[in-house]
Formats: sequence, C-alpha cells, structure tokens
Amino acid sequence: VDHVVVVGAGLAGVRTVEALRGRGFGGRITLVGRERHRPYDRPPLTKSVLLGESDTTFVDTDLAALRVAFRPGVSATALRPGAVETTEGELRFDGLVIATGADPVRLPGDGPQHVLRTLDDAHELRAALVPGARVVVVGAGWVGAEVATAARRAGCVVTVVEAGPAPLALAVGAEIGARTARWYDGIDLRLGAMVHSVEEGGVELVGGEFLDAHVVVAGIGVRPAVQWLADADLDLHNGVVVDEHLRASLPGTVAVGDCAAWWSRRFQDRLRVEHWDTALNAPEVAAASLLGEDAVYDPVPYFWSEQFGHMVQYAGHHPAGERLLYRGGPEGKWSAVWLRGDDTLAAVFAVDRPRDLVQGRRIIGAGSRLDAERLVDPEVPLRDC
Ligand code: FAD
Repeated sequence: VDHVVVVGAGLAGVRTVEALRGRGFGGRITLVGRERHRPYDRPPLTKSVLLGESDTTFVDTDLAALRVAFRPGVSATALRPGAVETTEGELRFDGLVIATGADPVRLPGDGPQHVLRTLDDAHELRAALVPGARVVVVGAGWVGAEVATAARRAGCVVTVVEAGPAPLALAVGAEIGARTARWYDGIDLRLGAMVHSVEEGGVELVGGEFLDAHVVVAGIGVRPAVQWLADADLDLHNGVVVDEHLRASLPGTVAVGDCAAWWSRRFQDRLRVEHWDTALNAPEVAAASLLGEDAVYDPVPYFWSEQFGHMVQYAGHHPAGERLLYRGGPEGKWSAVWLRGDDTLAAVFAVDRPRDLVQGRRIIGAGSRLDAERLVDPEVPLRDC
C-alpha cells in the first residue's frame, strides 16, 4: 500500500491515521474532511460546549508529525475503482478508509430548525439558548435529553416532544425510559406526540396543535453518511457493511466509526453503534486490516450520556426478549440489566452507578453467568452476583 485516503476527518478518521503510523506505515496518507475544522470530539458539544463551559473540543493530535495531507472543507462525492471523487478533484488510492460518520435527520417543514452534529451547530444553538426563550426540542433520545438539560439550565422555557411512549424508548425500551421521565422536572414533556412540520414561529403537531417556539431543535436521530457511496460497487445496508476485521466488500477498503456496520462474533449480530468508544478504538483494527494483518474488532460496546445531573451509561447489546431486572428503585441511583435465558449478561444500563457499568461490561466480556436473585439487591456488587 502506497497511498491511503481517509474520507471523514472525525475521531474515527484521525484515529485511523494515528494507528496506521503507529503500525509503521510509511506511505502517503490523505485525510479528507467536509468540515473546515481540524478533527474534534462531539460528545462535549451537547455538554460543556452547550453549557458554555468550553468553546472547542479538538482532538489532541499532531497532524504535521503524522505526515498527513489534511484537506479540510473537501467532500467526497463518489467512489470509483481506485479513486475517490471529491469537490476538489480526484484522489487515487490503493488503500481506502471510509469514516464519514453520520448526518442528523431533519424535520419536515420550512421553518427554522437546529440540529446538533457539528461544532458550528453547537455554537449557533448556544447563542439561541437565552433566558426566557421558548425552546421546543423534538426527540427525547440521547441528544434531545442533553439539549433539554442545557436549555433548562440556561433559563429557557422548554418543551420536549417525543413520538414514543417514554424518553429513550428507542434506545433502551419504554420501561427503562419511563424511569427517566421524572428527570424532566420543569419541562413540558409531551409523550406520544408527533411533529407534523416546523413552521415560522414554532412547530405544528400531528392533530393540529401549534407549539410556539423561538428555537426548534431536531434531535430525532442520524443516518450513516454514505450517500456519496450510493453508486459504488460496495455493500451498503444501514451503513457500510464490514466483516469482523472491518473490511468492506471492496478489496483494500475498510470502514470505521458511526458509518460502519460490523459483524460481531460475540453477539452473532451485525452492529452499527453511534458511540465515541467505537470511533476511538475500532481504528486500531481497521488500520491493521488495511495493512494485511489479522485483527478482529469485537468489543462490548459502551456509551454514556450526561443528562439532568445524572451520569447514564450503557454497555452491551440487548436484542428484544432478554429478561430485564433492576438494581434499585427509580429514585436515586439504580441500574438495569438484561439477562439471557442462560443467565449470562447481555447489557447493563447504569444511572449514577459507574461500578455496575465497569463490572457489568467485564462480565459481559467474560460471558459468565449471574444469580438473578442476588442481582436485584443493589447492595451486592455485580461481580459477586
Ligand atoms: P463523525 O464524528 O461524524 O465524523 C465524520 C466526519 O466525516 C464528519 O466531520 C463529517 O463532516 C465528515 N464527512 C461526512 N461525509 C463526508 C464526505 N462525503 N466527504 C468528506 N467528509 C465527510 N457518544 C458517546 O459515546 N457518548 C456521548 O455522550 C456522545 N455524545 C454525543 C453528542 C453529540 C452532539 C453527537 C453529535 C454525538 C455524540 N456521541 C456520543 C457520538 C459520538 O460523537 C460519535 O459516535 C462519534 O463522533 C463518531 O465518530 P466518527 O468519526 O465515526 O464520525
């Protein structure tokens, strides 16, 4: 391999560049990124940046020392055999890393709406969160909950509109989600409500009700940013389909981060997670695979969120039908675990109980069985169950 082109200059892209150099790759590397910023972390955008505690979140990396030709503000538009078409001409490659992440879904309607994916998005939204502003956040998922936290803290009048029966219902199910609804104190939380359209001055709900708003934020999820690959000879299905080595269906091509749907040996399932931890760690495997080494990516996926003063963490993968057990009541600190039929742990969801998360993640990794009766006692450490 002489020339590696990395498309997408987010965390997964830059970490892959670091991993290639770390493994001794001495050839040329070009890093193409649609945004004008150098690589930065996204999790703080809805946390410290929106709360006004920090302005930038750049990844601590030295692009010059990595000898990478960084092309900010350049988008890939198509993939042809051996070459990426970009907004600034063609780039020939003999190794390709697809790390284009995901793009936020927007609501229908012509009225102004914010999304929150980029540093620029975060700065624009922060400027709009002024005391007394009427803010409608659409979607009570991870991003919606964090935006609502910041908006309430800023003194805004906040409404959250959620189509599902509870916050976080899509991610962790309505039962757990319902336990988090109590956190929306002082917020008008509308469950089972659908937005018809965003209009000038607010949002119209299905059924006709109009919610006045100075600020509308869409937090309704993302789609893998793979439109530029639509005509390429590459398997796409909920992102770029890759094997357990993160190799795509095209030779000399790997995909990594939010845009990649990989085969998990551990869970015998195809996973595509939108987690910072994956963007951080999967690049080691992607780089090794691109250089012809035998490496497998098979983590216990991990995610966290900071909302309404709570540290919320999730590890594992829980297909529907696993048994759900709680450690602790809904007030205070608690966690939930998903047990399989053979009493092994599939996933853990922890609220202000970081030990449950750390121990649970280890137990999932080891595949050991747990005693369901001991498990429901929050005083018994998970590792002793
Ligand atoms: P991205 O970070 O999306 O980077 C991809 C880059 O590729 C982007 O800069 C994009 O502009 C660029 N790109 C896209 N298409 C093209 C193209 N055609 N040509 C060139 N460049 C292109 N995860 C957690 O685990 N915990 C959290 O608390 C958490 N909070 C989050 C809060 C926010 C607001 C957001 C947006 C995400 C959060 N995440 C969190 C998720 C985490 O940030 C992502 O999983 C991570 O950013 C994925 O990294 P990536 O490099 O795969 O994709």
